[in-house]
Amino acid sequence: MTSTADFQAIDAAHHLHPFTDPGDLARKGTRIITRADGVFIYDSNGNEILDGMSGLWCVNVGYGREELVEAAAKQMRQLPYYNSFFQCTTPPAIELSEMLSEISPAHINHVFYTCSGSEANDTIIRMVRYYWACQGKPTKKAFISRKNAYHGSTIGGTSLGGMTHMHKQGDLPIPGVYHINQPYWFGEGFDEDPNAFGVRVAQELEAKILELGEDQVAAFIGEPIQGAGGVIIPPDSYWPEIKRICDKYEILLITDEVICGFGRTGKWFGADYYGVTPDLMPIAKGLSSGYMPIGGVLVADHIAETLKAAGDDFHHGFTYSGHPTAAAVACANLKIMHREGLVDRVATELAPYFAKVMQPLADHPLVGEVRTTGLLGAVELMQDKSSHQFFENKGAAGTLCRDLSIENGLVMRGVGSTMIMCPPLVITTEQLDLMAERVAKTLDDAAKVLL
Ligand SMILES: *Cc1c(COP(=O)(O)O)cnc(C)c1O
Repeated sequence: MTSTADFQAIDAAHHLHPFTDPGDLARKGTRIITRADGVFIYDSNGNEILDGMSGLWCVNVGYGREELVEAAAKQMRQLPYYNSFFQCTTPPAIELSEMLSEISPAHINHVFYTCSGSEANDTIIRMVRYYWACQGKPTKKAFISRKNAYHGSTIGGTSLGGMTHMHKQGDLPIPGVYHINQPYWFGEGFDEDPNAFGVRVAQELEAKILELGEDQVAAFIGEPIQGAGGVIIPPDSYWPEIKRICDKYEILLITDEVICGFGRTGKWFGADYYGVTPDLMPIAKGLSSGYMPIGGVLVADHIAETLKAAGDDFHHGFTYSGHPTAAAVACANLKIMHREGLVDRVATELAPYFAKVMQPLADHPLVGEVRTTGLLGAVELMQDKSSHQFFENKGAAGTLCRDLSIENGLVMRGVGSTMIMCPPLVITTEQLDLMAERVAKTLDDAAKVLL
């Protein structure tokens, strides 16, 4: 068997990792995850680690699901691949499309398949501009998004996203994408009433539409709750105000459901949680619980009907759009979610329990705020909570805390100095207790170094 050191050397010699400083990783050596079961992952040194991030926000039904393995094997024996170009399709893609239309809001009944969330957002840029052209409004091309948003890592996804460190590499965003402030109350509006702050930052959308001209603006895109940006949960006033503005100016609303979709908030979609009706919803991650790469765009009826009436091809698609094996696994995943009532279980049992065990950590000397919605959580690390002072080097504080967390047997991520969590939807209350204990121990360990 290959030893950890051998694995690390080979990896350093040949593998460039995503979102990683390759020189730094080569020096430190990567952690090699070899297997997983339920909510636990195991590394090549035999350590058991509670996966508080569901992989990358995706393993919603947990690891080790034989049913998903069987669904893939069965489909691969029958028909491993066929495309959905040229007037063809496959039974799993058909079945999944119907299942998605059943769980999505009533006015959304079509799906365009991709292999990832990034591709879903690139698809949206093309589909939305084409839609407006079909509507006789070809000048409606601009997208308005938020600073610190995450919509993927392709050219389109990075452009729609609002991460300046990503924009710097590769001359992005592309022209025609604009970013307003995010609804990050704790970080950027702390001295205001949260709901007043929520309305104020939502109204930046209206100001931007008026500045650009309604006839130039195609759509607004936002994650219902920003994930990679640091689990930023908007004040309750935010989304209704955004929706009001989109309607007033005939601007399409896109809720990026790549993380919030599939039960994460205790509803099927984040839009349902906030009671807004989007026109388009990019999906991925929890769609297959990460067992297969698959994403898509859920499309409202008025847009689908426009495309159907256009009399032309939508000249867009991927070799693996509607991949039958990935679709079969996604169907099996959704069947598990239905059968085990996971969405309701998050709403009624797990979300309240998660909030209950996490909230007491707000009293910790290192912690300025704890916030949770559904099974998304964030803990804000502070240099001095009494004067609302953040660490000067936020990233260093977060990274230290993240590394200590792994040593304590918990995957928790740091975004700046915000520690974030996103456990699988099958976690038990006992395992949530264990998670909270490990977060508390990590905060104690971090405080010894940082305070
Ligand atoms: C992860 C993510 C994406 C990108 O999905 P990939 O499958 O990594 O391309 C897009 N939007 C949001 C909100 C995400 O969290």
